[in-house]
Order: sequence, then structure tokens, then C-alpha cells
Amino acid sequence: MNGNSVKVAGVDISTDHWIGGKRVASKQKFANFSPIDGSHLGDLSAGGKAEADAAVAAARKAFPAWAALGPKGRLPILKKFAEGIKARVNDLAAVETMDNGSLLMGNVHRVVPRAAQNIEFFADWALTLDGHSIDSPEVVNHVRYDPAGVAVLITPWNAPLMLTTWKVGPALAAGNTVVVKPPEWAPLTCSLMADIAHAAGVPAGVLNVVQGIGEEAGDALVNHPDVDRISFTGSTDTAKIIGQAAARSITPMSAELGGKSPFIVCADADLDAAAQTVAGQYMNAGQVCLAGTRIMVEKKIEEEFLEKVRGAASHMIVGDPRDKDTRVGPLIHKEHFARVAGFVERARADGAVPLWGGNRANFGELYFEPTLFANITPELEIAQREVFGPVLTWQNFSSDDEVIELANNTRYGLAGTLFSRNEKRAMDIASRVTAGTLWVNCFFVRDLAAPFGGAKDSGIGREGGTWSFDFYTDIKNISVRKGSFA
Ligand code: NAD
Repeated sequence: MNGNSVKVAGVDISTDHWIGGKRVASKQKFANFSPIDGSHLGDLSAGGKAEADAAVAAARKAFPAWAALGPKGRLPILKKFAEGIKARVNDLAAVETMDNGSLLMGNVHRVVPRAAQNIEFFADWALTLDGHSIDSPEVVNHVRYDPAGVAVLITPWNAPLMLTTWKVGPALAAGNTVVVKPPEWAPLTCSLMADIAHAAGVPAGVLNVVQGIGEEAGDALVNHPDVDRISFTGSTDTAKIIGQAAARSITPMSAELGGKSPFIVCADADLDAAAQTVAGQYMNAGQVCLAGTRIMVEKKIEEEFLEKVRGAASHMIVGDPRDKDTRVGPLIHKEHFARVAGFVERARADGAVPLWGGNRANFGELYFEPTLFANITPELEIAQREVFGPVLTWQNFSSDDEVIELANNTRYGLAGTLFSRNEKRAMDIASRVTAGTLWVNCFFVRDLAAPFGGAKDSGIGREGGTWSFDFYTDIKNISVRKGSFA
């Protein structure tokens, strides 16, 4: 391997940026640690303005030729890119687990295959975009989806490979070139992704990776004057900062942000299935934006249901995420651990009572016990703010109007989950909860053609299917007077 590299989980990974088809090192480095055991995984190049300038310039230079290929010309390259991800499923899964502590089995069976699907799905979909026309009395309106140009893609640490490909897939399929800024707490799979794209024939400059700290590398990219799209997934607070940069240059921005999603269990629900699904919210130590963390149970089944959840949660084994029996791995970083522990401490001080958990788990420095808080009133911090850890709250309700009010009583609106066997009731509640996605009698089921995104403080815009292309293209109408051609 050219340049600087580290070996993690037996895999060689470049620690340099990937700019214009070359590995580029910076003098400044940032250290990367595994949350599993605190081991030092390596020091990576930390970019700033110079690297951002070089990457945007490389992306701009590569743009005309990549755009000119059209969806058909890009298809075989992107399919090869997806195949390359599939061929390295074990490497990518093992590195992601070491880097961010997510469950190895989940990465092998779901996350990495989904990353490949993100690339191939949008490459196929791009073939269907053009050719649509709207007939009106005087003119024919030919609708075109033109690539926007250079897209900056910024992602968080909880699912870096999946979330990066969720952006890279449609951005490249639409004919844009991209600069990816991976998360500083889990940057390694993005570096591997660049190698895989290169080996698949993605031309130099089409996909660039600038590593580094958000306030340095990320800031330089979102403030760059020659950027046409900013796609951001991360926290609401960071989105507000990036939004100011986007506003100054009127650069379209999409934002997929945090959540505090309700999980509603009606008395007529399949309580066993619902209890299993509640316990599932502890997966990946609750570091899942979509997690239904506010459990709301219809009063008349509250006690029975609590016992079922207690039983299901007792199988949420805390441990090494490489072990196949583990369900709850580590929190990502000691700063994040302190943040989660702070929420728990303040919840206790506010009068919330842990029914179980509430402490560091007896496994390692960054492991936290699956926790459930009762004695919750809606205004408590623990019921309002995103913890991003294995911490759930428990509330009850007596009527549908009451639970809808509770569900809507936060600044977030990312998702919601609802268990009921009564279709009319379920659809009525689901339609009245403000959220981008409502799962009924299921959780985490995703079709890439369906819209995804958040309402209120959970985001701006929708991605998935055609919605991704609405963002990554400049939609043009060529309006031609009928009968005006010779
Ligand atoms: P974060 O906002 O701290 O960081 C996200 C990314 O932004 C990182 O790459 C970081 O380096 C970069 N960044 C930070 N400051 C920046 C700046 N000033 N300019 C440009 N870039 C900057 O978020 P996080 O802690 O990494 O991730 C956790 C958050 O992400 C949670 O709120 C979670 O809910 C959310 N999330 C949302 C989704 C979704 O699809 N809605 C998915 C996963 C995670």
C-alpha cells in the first residue's frame, strides 16, 4: 500500500486522505481508538483548508467527464463498486466493528450488504430519471435531471459506511463528483471505500475523502465557495452551524439529524413481538438515530407488558461486539460515555427512577447497562433530549389523543414505532404523529425506494428513491413550443 497505513483486524488501511486519485498525507494527525478496549488504532491525516481546496478542485476537474458519461455510462462502474464492497464484506465489517464498536454480526449480515445495495440501487434508479415530459396546449415540457456539480458529504460515527454510501450512491449515480468527510471517531471504512471505488474504475477526482476534525476539515468544506450540495447526517447542533455556511452561499443542504422517537404500544398489540422490539432498541448501545427511546404503553396492559419487556431485555447481553452473543457493545468514546452518564445522573436528580440499569456495565470502560427510566413527566430532560445511548424512558397513556400529544411533545420528528392489531386505530395514530417514518408492527424495515428523513429538528429534506435525486440534481424543464422546429 502506498503512503501511510495501519493494520486493523488484519486489514491494511491507508491513514492518508484520498484526493484526485492519490493518497495525500497531512502533517497534522488525529488519533483513532477502538471503543472495544481503548486500543490505539492509528494516527490519521487531519485535513484543513488546504486539503479541502485540493479535494474540491479535484472534484470540479473530474465533474464534466463523469457527468458526460450519463447514467448508462456510469452504471457498470458503480455496479463494480458495489461488487467490490460485497467482495470485502468480512474486512469492512471487522474494521467497522473495531472502529465504532457496532455489532460484528450486524455489520456482516446487514450493514455492509446494505452499503453495497446503496450504490447499486441508485445506479439502477438513475436510468429512469430522464425522458419524462409534460404535455401542455402550447408546449411540451421535457424534464431533465442534470447533475448538480460537486457534493460535500458529511457523516457521523454510528454507521459511517452505511450512511456514507447512502449519500455517495445517489450523488455519483446522478453524475456529481463528491468530497466525503468521514467522522473523526470512526474514519477507517471510508478509507477502504475509497480503495474499493478506485479498484472498480471510479475515475480520479470523482470520489475524494478528506479526513479530519469537524470544526477544521468539515468547516473548510462546507464554507468552500465552489460546492454545489452539502449533505449532512449528524447532530442538530452541528446542522445549525453548517446551515449558516450553506445559507451564506445559498448552497442546497440536506440534513438527517437526531431523534427522540416514540414507541407506542396499544393494549390490542401482539405484546410478545412488541416487547422483543422494545428490547431491540438497546442494540448498538442505543447509538441509533431511529431508536424508539420513549416507550409509551396503554395503561391497562402496563404491568403485564413491563414484565415481558423485562424478560426480553434480560437477553440484551453487554459485551465485546465481536462476540456473536453480544447485543449491547460499547459507547463510542469516553466523551460520549460522559455525556450519556450525565443524562442518567440528571434524570435521577430530576426524580426519574431506573427500573433497571443506570450504571457503567461490568465489562469495560465504555460499556453502559441497558437502562429503563420510569416516573417520567414529559418535560424532563431525559424525555426531551437525545441521549444516544442504551437509555429508554417509560410512560403510560389512557387515550389515543393523550399518546399522540405525548409522542409529538419533543422538538424531534425523525421516526416512531407503533404496535396495535387494530388497523384503523393504528393508521389514525400513525398519521397524527409528526415524524419522517412511522413503523407499524415492525421496526427498522427500510426500502431504499421509500422516503427517509426527519420532521422538525430531525432534519431538512427527504432521501431515498426519487427524493435523493431531487436533492442531488438540478431539475430542468426544457419547454419547447409545439410545431416550432423545421
Ligand atoms: P456530529 O454532528 O457531532 O458530527 C457529524 C459529522 O459532522 C462528523 O463527521 C463531524 O466531524 C462533522 N462536523 C462537526 N462539526 C462540524 C462543522 N462545524 N462543520 C462541518 N462538519 C462538522 O454528530 P455525531 O455525534 O457524529 O453523530 C451523532 C448524531 O447523528 C446523533 O444526533 C444522531 O441521531 C445523528 N444521526 C442521524 C441519522 C439520520 O439518518 N437522521 C443517522 C445517524 C446519526
